[in-house]
Formats: sequence, structure tokens, C-alpha cells
Amino acid sequence: METAKNRHGLTVLAGPTAVGKGTVSTYIRDHYPHVRLSISATTRAPRPGEEDGVHYFFVTPGRFDELVASGQMLEWAVVHGKNRYGTLRSTVEQAVSDGKAVLLEIDLQGARQVREQMPEANFVFLAPPSWEEMVGRLVGRGTETTDEQQRRLETAKLELAAESEFDHTVINDNVPRAAAELVSLMGLTPTTHP
Ligand code: 5GP
Repeated sequence: METAKNRHGLTVLAGPTAVGKGTVSTYIRDHYPHVRLSISATTRAPRPGEEDGVHYFFVTPGRFDELVASGQMLEWAVVHGKNRYGTLRSTVEQAVSDGKAVLLEIDLQGARQVREQMPEANFVFLAPPSWEEMVGRLVGRGTETTDEQQRRLETAKLELAAESEFDHTVINDNVPRAAAELVSLMGLTPTTHP
């Protein structure tokens, strides 16, 4: 059944650090080409294998300032007290006017800003099966320093408490299953296109 929420076409996926938001959205990019994923701008440096314009638009702090000052950011935030990340307003407006279902995978501060401007969007919280599993994922990833891991865990504790602000919760117990549930919450048929 179509609801006011899924007619809008914009779904925001947020959740605690290291819950696997990036893995679920990568799975969706690879298996559900009918879902349009918003590409964020960030001041963070690319990790090995990340491409400009595919994973993020990697920009300088000066360019990020310009995007904010000229009102081109729908939302933006400093994530983990370090780098800036933001959603370009044009990406969302274009997808919504094309009638496409668009997914924003952003942090909690960003999700709150989108809710202020677009309360009719669909807000989905991705939750870990357990706290222990989430810590294991963060430490196991091995891409951040110990200090950075500690910073991310502090952020994650605060973020877990935000679940009640969301319309739906999806538990990331299994990536393909969680991705299928998310796609169906977007009002799309969760049929994969390998
Ligand atoms: P990473 O550096 O691991 O790619 O991403 C770190 C965090 O930044 C993730 O929690 C991700 O959800 C968040 N993030 C990515 N893009 C955006 C964005 O456009 N806006 C906001 N607010 N957060 C973002």
C-alpha cells in the first residue's frame, strides 16, 4: 500500500557508527539499481579503492565552505568530531522531481536536519543485533587508529539512544536481508538485479 511517506521518494538511513550503514548502502548500490543513492560531499581523504563522484565527492575544506555558504547543502555535519560530510540539495531535488526513490545514508545530526526541512521523508534507523557485535565490527574493520575507534564508540552510544526518533527500525543481522527490508520500506519491490 502506498503511503504519504513512500510517495515522497526520499528515505533517510541513519544509525550508530559501525552498524554497517555503508555496507548496506553498498549492497543496495550493487543489487538494486532502481534505488538512487545520494553521493555526499566530504572533506575526508579517500580510502584506498574509493573514487571521486562514486563513493563521495571529495572536496577541500574551502570548497565545502562555499557549498554551505551558497545554500547548496540540504544538510551537513562534522562527523566523529573531525571531517565534514553533507548532502547536496540538488541531488535530492533532482531525484524527487524525476520520481525516483532516493536514499540518503547519513549521520544522525544530518537526519535531524533533513527532518526539519522535509518531515514527510521516510526515516529508517539501522540498529545492530547487539552492542558487542557493533564493537566487534568497528575494531575488526582495522581502518581507523585506536583513538579514532574510541571517538567513534562514544558517538555510537549517543546515536543508539536516537532510535525512537525514527519511523522504522531495521536490524542489521544480515546485510542482504536488511537491504531487502529497507528497499521494501522505500515502497519498492525488493527484487535484486544482479
Ligand atoms: P565514512 O567516513 O566511514 O565514509 O563515513 C562516516 C560517517 O559519515 C557515516 O556515519 C556516514 O553515515 C556519515 N555521512 C556520510 N555522508 C554524509 C552526509 O552527507 N551527511 C551526513 N550528515 N553524514 C554523512
